[in-house]
Amino acid sequence: MEALRENRGAPVRPQSVVDSVYDSIYERLMSLAIAPGARIPIDVIARDLNVSQTPVREALSRLEREGLVNKAHLIGYSAAPQFGRKEFEDLFNFRLLVEPEGARLAALNMTPAALEHIEAIAADMAHGAAPVDRTSRYSRFARIDAHFHDEIMRIGGNEVIRSTLFNQHVHLHLFRLMFHSRVTQEALEEHENLLAAFRAGDAAAAEQAMREHIQRSRDRLMLAFE
Ligand SMILES: [Zn+2]
Repeated sequence: MEALRENRGAPVRPQSVVDSVYDSIYERLMSLAIAPGARIPIDVIARDLNVSQTPVREALSRLEREGLVNKAHLIGYSAAPQFGRKEFEDLFNFRLLVEPEGARLAALNMTPAALEHIEAIAADMAHGAAPVDRTSRYSRFARIDAHFHDEIMRIGGNEVIRSTLFNQHVHLHLFRLMFHSRVTQEALEEHENLLAAFRAGDAAAAEQAMREHIQRSRDRLMLAFE
């Protein structure tokens, strides 16, 4: 087994317990099982996941670096509070700077296989299995939307744009906001405009379609602050 692993060149992963604890806490944040601002007791998480407290501390420290949880002296960890208007505007202004460019690059790099791939993600978003409730509907929408945007950035090929956006955890923050907003047939139509630009191989149209999509998403979600 060790030899096989070495032959494949895969790294040994002492972090794997931490990774799975991280995934589990992330999932709870995403599903609102841990609400914005709620405390995250290390001992309870460790018991639930049947691990020691060390990997829980490490996972929480990673989540803290990513801005998804906060640590307070004597109180411990809690889920990051809901996005305020300032954070929201900062995030969308940043997205407007980089995502239209990512879409333009994606149009230039588009291949039939890549187009088929993102068309399938968009179709899944529009027609996937019926979610069981409001929470899972928003959660599903936010996740697939994040995947759709991430794949476009991947096709665009600028890894700085892609990883910087990815590390903002846009979908987690937006999901928590979407809770107060309407889910959007409109977003699906905007995705369709973007796909049409990719199909036509029109980089300027792709850039413009992405800009409009982000501006309109911002306007829809802004209702959460009113
Ligand atoms: Zn979108």
